[in-house]
Amino acid sequence: MNLKDYIARIDNYPTEGIVFRDITPLMANGEAYRAATKEIVDYAEGLNIDMVVGPEARGFIVGCPVAFEMGVGFAPVRKPGKLPREVVSAEYEKEYGTDTLTMHADAIKKGDRVLIVDDLLATGGTVQATIEMIEKLGGIVVGCAFLIELDDLNGREKLEGYDVKVLMHF
Ligand code: 5GP
Repeated sequence: MNLKDYIARIDNYPTEGIVFRDITPLMANGEAYRAATKEIVDYAEGLNIDMVVGPEARGFIVGCPVAFEMGVGFAPVRKPGKLPREVVSAEYEKEYGTDTLTMHADAIKKGDRVLIVDDLLATGGTVQATIEMIEKLGGIVVGCAFLIELDDLNGREKLEGYDVKVLMHF
């Protein structure tokens, strides 16, 4: 099974000149969704993880089945104002200006071995902010897994020194 067959390409979305990679056909196909999940689980088996962390919203779709399958917890990364209790936050650079992400302050315990899961690595800003929060809480980022990496955007440079697993490159 070629997982790339289940990723749709949408030109000029969300704005002119952007090529968007849509993962919903993969999610819609049980076999493909399970195969992608299994590939990430196989990667993470050796990492001895305590928690999976995923950024909203597609990081939930990819990360939750991995956590469920491995029998570990899942902690959500969310935009400001969405989490009801004490949070830690991190800022990251967007094309225009900065954005902020948050996590519950008790989501990660000191020494927890954490796998970050998201659908796609682009500029790396989202994963970098996620790493910053996990490390602020004393967690150890032992791996980062993505369905897709957009190679031209060089997000990989922000992950130097971290272990990275990517299922598909565009
Ligand atoms: P980055 O912070 O690495 O620039 O962007 C990655 C984040 O933006 C991910 O959370 C991802 O969900 C979202 N993203 C950016 N571009 C795309 C895209 O083409 N397709 C999908 N599915 N998500 C994208």
